[in-house]
Amino acid sequence: MVENTHFNFRKLVTSLLIAAAVAGAVLPAWRFTVDPILAAKAPDRPPGSADDLQAFAAIEPIDTHVHAFKTDPAFVELVARLRLHVLDICVADSQGIYGELSTELARAKSFVQSSHGHARLCVTFRPFGFQQKDFAQNTVKQLRQEFAAGAIAVKIWKNIGMELKTADGKYVMPDDAAFRLIYKEIAAANKTLVAHVAEPSSCWQPPNPDSPDYSYYNENPEWYMYLHPDHPRKEVILAARDRLLAENPKLRVVGAHLGSMEVDVDEIAKRFDRYPNFAVDTAARMEYLMIQPREKVRNFLIKYQDRVLYGTDLEFLIDEPTPDALKDWQETYSRDWQFLATDHTLEYHGRKIQGLNLPPPVLHRIYHDNAIRWIPGIAPASK
Ligand SMILES: [Zn+2]
Repeated sequence: MVENTHFNFRKLVTSLLIAAAVAGAVLPAWRFTVDPILAAKAPDRPPGSADDLQAFAAIEPIDTHVHAFKTDPAFVELVARLRLHVLDICVADSQGIYGELSTELARAKSFVQSSHGHARLCVTFRPFGFQQKDFAQNTVKQLRQEFAAGAIAVKIWKNIGMELKTADGKYVMPDDAAFRLIYKEIAAANKTLVAHVAEPSSCWQPPNPDSPDYSYYNENPEWYMYLHPDHPRKEVILAARDRLLAENPKLRVVGAHLGSMEVDVDEIAKRFDRYPNFAVDTAARMEYLMIQPREKVRNFLIKYQDRVLYGTDLEFLIDEPTPDALKDWQETYSRDWQFLATDHTLEYHGRKIQGLNLPPPVLHRIYHDNAIRWIPGIAPASK
């Protein structure tokens, strides 16, 4: 199902052009400009970020993990200027972080519609009724309608494994029989499951201000499992995820957030070796790649260059001023590009991080090809 990537001449030429553009030797006729107002507001913007964004745009990047629920022509213009394609992901939670699910879905759909083909929809389903009699059948029916209307992927969230319980008080895991029919349907429709399962390890550990997720758990104590020792351990949840992968070999699964194996790329590699239907996105976990040993991460990304999808977790929310979002998105793309594509030194939490300077063909897979292969329909296959 997941073919090997065959290197072709056109890709080689593209890669060389990108490499040259990065080196500053060749610049396309058009110059990429950062909005001067935004640039002025961000004095800490690293020098050369306009060039970074230009090289980023040249690769025709695909961000496989965003949450965009607002429509604004200025934003559509940015996405077009960056030659960016995104997967707009809906989340079904009981807290309503993005509002009621039907509202969230309607907003995501208008974002996708306004994007001139630059955004595609990843839907979700309400898992809360998993014990009701026709839960799976009804969900399958709903998903069929969404697929017919253009959805290309389905998201499950961490509430499966960490929050939802059966009537007798057992936590329901992502491989529960209640979801079996749904996974079969996603595979049969040739769509992709985006699985945010479990959380970073720091979720189960004492507070540590150096952790990339310290502020998240400060602000969201209900998700901070260190405070809830009665909830399932991370290993238990990931073991259930692994069973899901084994039981559904025809289902393509993209593990969001490095598949919650963010502290050690060796753990991801083990799963890649075992489950050919599994890939991961980098959403909101790039910092974890920055703080692991550079050569180890670099070798991992080169060895598994067909299995890692670029994703950010960037948001564009209904009540957010558009200029703030534009700034945030550009800064994130610029920073990630510096880390993956250059050998520049970045600052992170007082540490100096040297960019990975990945070979252009590897960058091309992580930023473009893998998204198309793992999430068909996300962007046109031909360049
Ligand atoms: Zn997300």
